[in-house]
Amino acid sequence: MPSRATKIVATLGPASSDPALLEAMIRAGVNVVRLNFSHGKAQDHIDRAELVRAASLRAGREVAIMTDLQGPKIRVGKFADGKVMLEPGQAFVLDASRTELGDTHGVGLDYKELPRDVKGGDVLLLNDGLIVMVVDKVVGAAVHATVKLGGELSNNKGINKQGGGLTAPALTAKDMEDLKTAMALRADYVAVSFPKNATDMELARQLCTVACEGTGHKPGLIAKIERAEAIPELANILKVSDGIMVARGDLAVEVGNASVPGLQKHMIKLARQMDKLVITATQMMESMIVHPVPTRAEVSDVANAVLDGTDAVMLSAETAAGKYPLETVEQMAAICLEAEKTDYDPLDDDFQGTTFNRIDQAIAMGALFTAHHLKAKAIVALTESGSTALWMSRHSVRMPIYALTSQLASQRKMALFRNVRPLLMATSADRDTALTQAEVELKKRGIVQAGDVYAITVGEPMGTPGGSNTLKLCQAR
Ligand code: PGA
Ligand code: MN
Repeated sequence: MPSRATKIVATLGPASSDPALLEAMIRAGVNVVRLNFSHGKAQDHIDRAELVRAASLRAGREVAIMTDLQGPKIRVGKFADGKVMLEPGQAFVLDASRTELGDTHGVGLDYKELPRDVKGGDVLLLNDGLIVMVVDKVVGAAVHATVKLGGELSNNKGINKQGGGLTAPALTAKDMEDLKTAMALRADYVAVSFPKNATDMELARQLCTVACEGTGHKPGLIAKIERAEAIPELANILKVSDGIMVARGDLAVEVGNASVPGLQKHMIKLARQMDKLVITATQMMESMIVHPVPTRAEVSDVANAVLDGTDAVMLSAETAAGKYPLETVEQMAAICLEAEKTDYDPLDDDFQGTTFNRIDQAIAMGALFTAHHLKAKAIVALTESGSTALWMSRHSVRMPIYALTSQLASQRKMALFRNVRPLLMATSADRDTALTQAEVELKKRGIVQAGDVYAITVGEPMGTPGGSNTLKLCQAR
């Protein structure tokens, strides 16, 4: 199978929970499985995580698990029939105090503050803007609205207020509980919904640290950029996060559709400059929920995210609830692979203006630069935490980066890094023995053959996270 640099995040749901199908999806290219905490109970997520770990074992590929916290998104409650059809002109009541299941006249609310956050005349966009309602009046806990744009509304779909301005904090009481579940199932990444600023992410980090106390587990934190308020705070949010998600669904509703493509490019560029990860999400292959092939526009969208330099492209309903989850992954992988053939920033340009202030970072950059000029077969990092591979993967270089680690948690985390192929290998504590072991492993896997040149980095003494201080240029024996 050709080597793909861009990673695929796929959301698990009813359409992809069959063990054999999930295994096939992982073989077809899923690198990160997203568990959406907007749906399901704690035990469902724990069961699903086990399903993922088992499928990944059978497929012989390590995948990362990303738990996505629901956040303060205004969401409707559940319907008696799972969904309703709304017609333009009809009245509909969003009622925070409603306890019975929803019907065509109204539905309960997950977000109890909605009645306080809206007033007559406000425009509400439901299900990523597919359904539009205008608020007529607020009576107590009930928001009375008139449907302008109708359609199908199903359980727990999101509601946005046009222009943004929700008062809710990023982490709800439910999120704090869910975070414990996420840590119990050893999530490799936690995505935080609707952060407004760095403080929201710092709180999430603290809660993770508390929940992980004594376990040594340290998940990566992804800030979902989906509020208008987060845009001016982007650099500050990135500083305290491991990465961001270009969460185009909610973002488009808050800032307007037309602003999103430019923001996507800006976010991807800034994330890479700041040595952080970035996932591009929502509606990438939307039509494949019901069709076996994507639209031309979707093909272009995925390819353009690849060209922008995203670490990963994400699938939501396509794999969670669609008719063609496997085909969607297959086609997305093929689009990424083809787009990567045209993806080329000359490395020298890429380095301009970049300053290194850490030894491991300078070694990582030295490896890239030298391997590029030598036209090496591969760049290899013996890495404990994965940080060397992260530095390397922030620059576009036309050769794969193989990250050899003895830590399963690091291997899983690196599943999200663009252009990094994480491999698990028990390494000797002696540097020279470890380098020999690495070459044996690379040859065994057919990554290098006798005569091939490759660059390899290592830390001395071995096994210190962030301790890379040595670059060796090798010709395989
Ligand atoms: P969601 O996040 O699917 O959890 O809403 C992604 C987005 O808003 O684009
Ligand atoms: Mn969202």
